[in-house]
Amino acid sequence: MTNATIAAAFEQIADLLEYQGGNVFRVRAYRNAARTVEGLVEPVASVRTDPERRLTDLDGIGADLAGKIETLLDTGRLPLLEKLEHEVPAVVFDLMRVPGLGPKKVKALVDALGIASLADLETACQDGKVRGIKGFGAKTEASILDNLAFARDPERARLLWEEAEQIARGLIDWLRECPETVRAEAAGSLRRGRETVGDLDILVESGDPVPVMQRLVDWPETDEVLLRGETKTSVRGPRGLRIDLRVVAQESFGAALQYFTGSKEHNVRLRTRARDRGLSINEYGVFRLADGGGGASGPSLAGETEPEVYEAVGLPWIPPELREGRDEIELASEGRLPQLVTLADIRGDLHMHTTATDGEDTLAEMVRAARARGLAYVAITDHGKRVTMAHGLDRTRLLRQWDAVDRLNESLAADGEPPIVVLKGIEVDILEKGGLDLPDEVLARADWVVASLHYGQNQPRDRITARIVEAIENPHVSVIGHPTGRLINRRPPYDVDIEAMIEAAARTGTFLEINANPWRLDLDDRHAAAAKAAGVKIVISTDAHSTRGLDVMRCGVLQARRAGLEKGDVANTRTLAGLQKLMKQ
Ligand SMILES: [Zn+2]
Ligand SMILES: [Zn+2]
Repeated sequence: MTNATIAAAFEQIADLLEYQGGNVFRVRAYRNAARTVEGLVEPVASVRTDPERRLTDLDGIGADLAGKIETLLDTGRLPLLEKLEHEVPAVVFDLMRVPGLGPKKVKALVDALGIASLADLETACQDGKVRGIKGFGAKTEASILDNLAFARDPERARLLWEEAEQIARGLIDWLRECPETVRAEAAGSLRRGRETVGDLDILVESGDPVPVMQRLVDWPETDEVLLRGETKTSVRGPRGLRIDLRVVAQESFGAALQYFTGSKEHNVRLRTRARDRGLSINEYGVFRLADGGGGASGPSLAGETEPEVYEAVGLPWIPPELREGRDEIELASEGRLPQLVTLADIRGDLHMHTTATDGEDTLAEMVRAARARGLAYVAITDHGKRVTMAHGLDRTRLLRQWDAVDRLNESLAADGEPPIVVLKGIEVDILEKGGLDLPDEVLARADWVVASLHYGQNQPRDRITARIVEAIENPHVSVIGHPTGRLINRRPPYDVDIEAMIEAAARTGTFLEINANPWRLDLDDRHAAAAKAAGVKIVISTDAHSTRGLDVMRCGVLQARRAGLEKGDVANTRTLAGLQKLMKQ
């Protein structure tokens, strides 16, 4: 029974009492107790077993609450909570999972509209009935609709990295405007560049936590304050995202950044390494272990910066994207950490669409936007004709587009701006029955061919794999686009034998794509690492459908970094001549 579980039980009692219209002081007592328990550094069980102390020594814990903690510790259950859970209709628990709906609002919804399910709530919002209830309004109604997905499935409500990063950037700018803020950084899975982010961990260095934490509470995007402690404040921000802000002193900032960046697995291994050296690492710093291996003691040996924390255990600094507890500590200790590819290394973008199919911007607009982003070459890869939904190109329209590319290249060469070369490309469709939707004699005239599978995604593994391997073996195919077809949070990957795909790509010199679209990001980190190990070169492409879409390249680069890819592993870090030399044939 962890502190967090005990705290959650008390929070739930407080919620249910409040729902029932219980005594406000009693409700507050449970909330305070929850906060005390959650804020304890040591397990509450160890307070109980310590002969020198009592549970009632803890802030806000009287004899009654101390008894409840003991019951929870002994039995894992609490009769009061079970009684309340029995008395309150089940829908209340569902409704309270909607960010922004506390017990009082839930009660108002149930009383006024007889809401009996999340589906009822959705219908009532859509019909505009919720805004009419006292204490609600059109804005609350809209935010309930936005947040319903979260209540239905918290796992699926993890935000895409790019969405979370935008929220974090806005918040960090806001916190930096606070005069007491010295430094502010995001830690956690956001900093590690994970595909999705469940909550935000923000760290601020300051000698004066109170105004910094107040600044978070005052943030216009803060929906709900979940917890206020001495150095930690938690709120519910936009999209139901939980945000934990911790304010730390200068001497601990690096240690805290390391600690809260995680991952858990990485930190466990790092602590083991520290222990082997008679050291202890925590969020405050690096300490010498007391004799006999007990707790930490003495002054902190390191902690102001992250590199010095790693140095204290004999390691170079490890990039956050690699901190997943795989082999990074071993690689670091052997001096074999990869020099990860960076956004600045990328010279070309080899997958994008225009108004000729389902893009929003014209050929010329896309190319100028790419040039403005410093790229030296792009491939225009509109859809082949099979993708009828996108008005895919047949042979005639494709050849006409390539004529336009020729003319554009001439005018680009003549206009005195930094040079950019446009490659004649196509995103050819890997057909359900096998084969591609444009004939080889057309593909032979292309500079760059992306082959992607858009239809027949439910076929069995051997069929899908055979279609893709056949495309890889086509001498004109340069790269396989979005090789697993997944859409994060929306659609699982199709059932393809990735090893067979990688083996065929290695054998034929075909590239595999990391699609930088934040919904896609396939190949993922593990698969891209496997491709690298097999000697397959990766292409990171945006698959942009608008000029704005070109900006997601950084998401693809992040995925490549998580895979441990170096500049040399990524084909579009080469010059155009270098890329063409790498291509098959
Ligand atoms: Zn596609
Ligand atoms: Zn595409």
